[in-house]
Amino acid sequence: MTETFDVVVIGAGAAGMMCASVAGQRGRRVLVIDHATALAEKIRISGGGRCNFTNLQAGPANFHSENPHFCRSALARYTPQDFLALLARHGIAWHEKHKGQLFCDDSAQNIIDMLVAECSAGNVAWRRPCKVEALQRENEGWRVDTEAGTVHAASVVIATGGLSIPKIGATDFGHRIARQFDIPVIAPRPGLVPLTFDAGSAPFAELAGIALEVELTCNAGFFREDLLITHRGLSGPAILQISSYWTPGDALRINLLPDLKVDSELLAAKNGARQHVVSVVAQWLPRRMAELLVERAGLAGRPIAEAGDKALRQLAASINQWELKPSGSEGYRKAEVTLGGVDTRALDQKTMMARSQPGLHFVGEVMDVTGWLGGYNFQWAWASGYAAGMAV
Ligand code: FAD
Repeated sequence: MTETFDVVVIGAGAAGMMCASVAGQRGRRVLVIDHATALAEKIRISGGGRCNFTNLQAGPANFHSENPHFCRSALARYTPQDFLALLARHGIAWHEKHKGQLFCDDSAQNIIDMLVAECSAGNVAWRRPCKVEALQRENEGWRVDTEAGTVHAASVVIATGGLSIPKIGATDFGHRIARQFDIPVIAPRPGLVPLTFDAGSAPFAELAGIALEVELTCNAGFFREDLLITHRGLSGPAILQISSYWTPGDALRINLLPDLKVDSELLAAKNGARQHVVSVVAQWLPRRMAELLVERAGLAGRPIAEAGDKALRQLAASINQWELKPSGSEGYRKAEVTLGGVDTRALDQKTMMARSQPGLHFVGEVMDVTGWLGGYNFQWAWASGYAAGMAV
C-alpha cells in the first residue's frame, strides 16, 4: 500500500507526538509511525509514574550539548508556561515538587492521553506497531519503506529518542539515519545514571540504603542534592545529575556535610569532652556511617579528647572532601537519558531541519541536547517538537 502525506514522524514519544499534533493542527497531513506495541512508554514510567513534565526554571544552562546555544531559540519559543496552558485546556492537575519540577497530580497517563487527543485534533494518522525498513530521498521529498507499505512525504521528522532502556523500545535508529545522510553524530553515552565501583571498592556497600543531602562536584558540574548509597555504588539525584558531567577516570568530590566545617567542629569538641569520636560524628551523620568513617580514620573506640589533631583533620576531610573514582555506570539499562546524539551544528535551530538535507528534521532526545534531571528533558521534547511542527 502506497500513501502520500505532507509529514511522516518516526517515533511516537514525547517529541514526536508534540510535533505531529502541532503540524496536524496547522493543516498538514501527518502520519506517525512507531515500532513499539505500547504507546509512549517513557512518558508512562517517567517521574515515578507521575511524569515530571517540565521545570519552571528551564533554560539553556540546564542542558548538555557540544553546541550549547542551539537550544536557546526553541526553548524561548515554547516555554514551560506554554505547556501549562496546554495542560489547563485538558484540565490536567499538577503540582510543584522541588526546585521548579512540575508533576501530574494523578498519573503520567494524563500526558499521553492529552498528546493523543491533540494529535486527533490535527487528524494525525498512525501506523503502530510498525517497523521502518528504509528511508530514502526521492524527487523533492522522502520515501519511507515500512513493513506495512511505502509512504511518501515532503518532510520526515526523526523522533526516535535516545538509547536508554532498550527493553521498552529504545534504538539507535535516529543516529543511523543521521549517518546515512552524512550528518555527524556526537558519540552517545548514558546520562542521569547511577555510578558503579569495582567489586570490593564499592564505597560503603555496607551502608546501602542511607540517603543524605550532599554537595557534589565533578568537572564543571556542581549540585546540592540527595545522595543514595547502594550495594553496587552510588545513586540518588546528586549522582544522577553529576553522572552527566562524569567521564571514565574522573574523580567525584563529595561534601557529606555541606553546612558544617567538620575539622573546626572536631577540634573544638576536644576541649574537655569525654565523648568518643564516633558519638560526636553521629550527631551529624547516620550512626552506621559515622562508625565506618571513624573506624577508617583509625579512631574507633577513642575518646575525642585523646584523638590526635592530624587524625581528626583526616576524618574531617573524609567527610567534607570525600574523593572517589567510579569505575563505570549502570549503562543504558538504567540511564534516564542519552548524552550526545545528532550534532546540532548540522541542524537549523528554528526548524530542527538538517541543513544539508531539506525536509529531514530531528527532534527530542535523538539530538545532542540533554537536560539535567528535573523535567528539562521533556521540556526539550516539547520545545523541539513544537519548533519542527511549526516548520514542516
Ligand atoms: P522517546 O520519548 O523515547 O520516544 C521515542 C519513540 O521512538 C518511542 O516511542 C520508541 O518506541 C520510538 N522508536 C525508537 N526506535 C524506533 C524505530 N527504530 N522505529 C520506530 N519507532 C522507534 N524526563 C523528564 O523531563 N522528566 C522525567 O520525569 C523523566 N523521567 C524519566 C524516567 C525514566 C525511567 C527514563 C528512562 C527517562 C525519563 N526522562 C524524564 C527522560 C524522558 O523520558 C526523555 O528525555 C523523553 O522521553 C525523550 O522524548 P523523545 O520523544 O525524544 O523520545
